[in-house]
Amino acid sequence: MIHMTGISKVYKNGSVALSDISIDIEKGDFLFVVGPSGAGKSTFIKLIFREELPTKGQLVVNGRNVTNMPLSEIPYLRRGLGIVFQDYRLLPEKTVYENVAFAMRVIEAPRREIQKRVNSVMDLVGLKDKFRCFPNQLSGGEQQRVAIARAIVNNPVVVIADEPTGNLDPETSWDIMRIFERINKSGTTIVMATHDKTIVDAMRKRVIAIERGRIVRDQVKGVYGYED
Ligand code: ADP
Ligand code: ADP
Repeated sequence: MIHMTGISKVYKNGSVALSDISIDIEKGDFLFVVGPSGAGKSTFIKLIFREELPTKGQLVVNGRNVTNMPLSEIPYLRRGLGIVFQDYRLLPEKTVYENVAFAMRVIEAPRREIQKRVNSVMDLVGLKDKFRCFPNQLSGGEQQRVAIARAIVNNPVVVIADEPTGNLDPETSWDIMRIFERINKSGTTIVMATHDKTIVDAMRKRVIAIERGRIVRDQVKGVYGYED
């Protein structure tokens, strides 16, 4: 599903974010990416959706070669991915319904199909009664549920998330993680960078640890492995 071979990333200012990373992430994996601040986790995530290009190495995502992809192909890559950020990134002037429906309008899905599918994903994230709210009328946890609904509305094969519970209290974080677990149980691959030790240690999913741009650990039923 995601195959990295000898991937390095050096930013223009000379910062070495990733050094010679190789990893295979398979369909249905639930992968936590852990490690100290500045280790390269966000860069690892950004390479997958072609927000950044690797300096060296091969990267194949969902059958597409990301390293030599023309700009015109990036939207097709991203259609197969759902992306969730720590700060939700909803469109503030659109309702909850429109934020989620928008992702389907972009691919010109028929109106009936949009209504049906938006209803069904809003049900899945437990937000059926908030269709007409605007993002600033929702709690952080509710906004993150909307962001997850938007990420999965087009049935992506992979959902990638960068610190999705980073702004949420522990109880709300668990609500969000249960949603990710449900999405994963339906066969969707999940790749999530996180600092949430309690969640990683409780869920016992695959864990990779990145330190100074290198994968230093790859465990099948892993633990967080740091004290913070
Ligand atoms: P993490 O997500 O683990 O905190 P990042 O991938 O954000 O790590 O950062 C890895 C390294 O790359 C850090 O040294 C960081 O300062 C650097 N870095 C990240 N983004 C950029 C950028 N846009 N330009 C230059 N350096 C960057
Ligand atoms: P348009 O295509 O003009 O945007 P829609 O019928 O798709 O019209 O939606 C209009 C508004 O009605 C949406 O912004 C949303 O707030 C609301 N809406 C649409 N479908 C539903 C639904 N199934 N449940 C609740 N509200 C809905």
